Amino acid sequence: MKAHVTDNPSNKAPAVTAPVEKNLLDAQEAVSDRIRKRLATSKTRFFANDNIADFIEPGELEALEAEIAERFEAVLRSLVIDIDNDHNTQGTARRVAKMYLNEVFAGRYGSPPAVTEFPNISSLNELLIVGPVTIRSACSHHFCPIMGRLWIGLMPNQHSNLIGLSKYARLAEWVMTRPQIQEEAVTQLADQLVERVRPDGLAIVMEADHFCMQWRGVRDSGSKMLNSVMRGAFLKDPALRREFLALINMKP
Ligand SMILES: [Zn+2]
Repeated sequence: MKAHVTDNPSNKAPAVTAPVEKNLLDAQEAVSDRIRKRLATSKTRFFANDNIADFIEPGELEALEAEIAERFEAVLRSLVIDIDNDHNTQGTARRVAKMYLNEVFAGRYGSPPAVTEFPNISSLNELLIVGPVTIRSACSHHFCPIMGRLWIGLMPNQHSNLIGLSKYARLAEWVMTRPQIQEEAVTQLADQLVERVRPDGLAIVMEADHFCMQWRGVRDSGSKMLNSVMRGAFLKDPALRREFLALINMKP
């Protein structure tokens, strides 16, 4: 019996190969795990609509793209799509990975746009309205598109900073190109603008089509979601609020 046990290679195999396999797995730690660990260590929230650019090191976005492509390929296989032979879906996993990271969810992974702030030297204190700004996003619940428009109303004071008109659209795009919830999106954009411009009052109105209501679910193609955030002077002064809503053609 003794000879039989020691001569049988299959009995030895697990003792020799197990540590090697474990080392290989350690070396192959997914890049998303590395990024997640950094976020956890610094106790930073990483919900779908949070920006995590500060936690991604050079070269990791490319590695993330490869990881997402691999995992999306698994989703396609689980959908029982023959991606090995179907010419239409052969590159789909890679295309979706690129689209998520570099386009539709780029606002999660990229740094904020460069926005130059100018002191309000001519002390403008008139209502300033920017819009409509076209917005494109996707809902966090279904990853279905959200397409819409928003308007920004600002009441500057002599201490406010002014930013170039195109920068409002850039900031909006940075906030919207994440899996979003409309109510949270307008709040995030309002926070960004208040921090940079420091106005007396700020108002944002957003009107959007949610494709998860049109393509699936209730399949109601006519409904739009409208919401707003009002801060400072727009909260305190009903006349200012009415003026803003009248100028953008919304009923108060
Ligand atoms: Zn949805």
